[in-house]
Amino acid sequence: MIKIQKFVFNSFQENTFVLYNENNECIIVDAGCYQAHEEQELVDFIESRELKPARLINTHGHVDHILGVQFLSQKYNLPLEIHSSDLRLVEVSDNYGSMYGFQVKVPTNIETPLVDDMEITFGDSTLKLFHVPGHSPGSVAIYAPNENFVIVGDVLFKGSIGRTDLPGGDYPTLIKSIFNKLLNLDDSVTVFPGHGPETSIGYEKMSNPFILDSFETL
Ligand SMILES: [Zn+2]
Ligand SMILES: [Zn+2]
Repeated sequence: MIKIQKFVFNSFQENTFVLYNENNECIIVDAGCYQAHEEQELVDFIESRELKPARLINTHGHVDHILGVQFLSQKYNLPLEIHSSDLRLVEVSDNYGSMYGFQVKVPTNIETPLVDDMEITFGDSTLKLFHVPGHSPGSVAIYAPNENFVIVGDVLFKGSIGRTDLPGGDYPTLIKSIFNKLLNLDDSVTVFPGHGPETSIGYEKMSNPFILDSFETL
């Protein structure tokens, strides 16, 4: 059984997640810790539960989601795992970061194994990845079927959807990703977005104005 812990980090109020299992392994998703006290908060959580970091995975390569990656990658000797289509975003993240006043520690150990429909074994559970481009070309969602939740990065928010005006963004592609991948999940699935509060697939189908708009034009 996977448990999930959420942290809110950096000036973009980015959601970082720690998934941990019965073997005390953990996967850190979208490490956005920036200030020293944010890094410490994450490390304290991991150490107080005696968790062993097994993977560092990112839903996408935008700068607010990678600010803590290099720190953790070095501390735990783990590569960042990301979809290949967002590799470029990470490589130039110091340029993007300086536009927003961040001094980015650019990840130096990056692997790109993440692909659509990939399964990740994690203790007794399995995680499934979906490629959901549109907000960024290499966005992925991380679905835990047994635990009935999905981490969606900046693809879908409570009452909103991801921006498509950033480099590599595309509105029709984003809507297609949401409809073909996320809305196929059961209504009861809890959605953990990259910013803001949790929601559910059913709630967004019923009330998200961008989704309702697109239903009408389909
Ligand atoms: Zn983003
Ligand atoms: Zn973001």
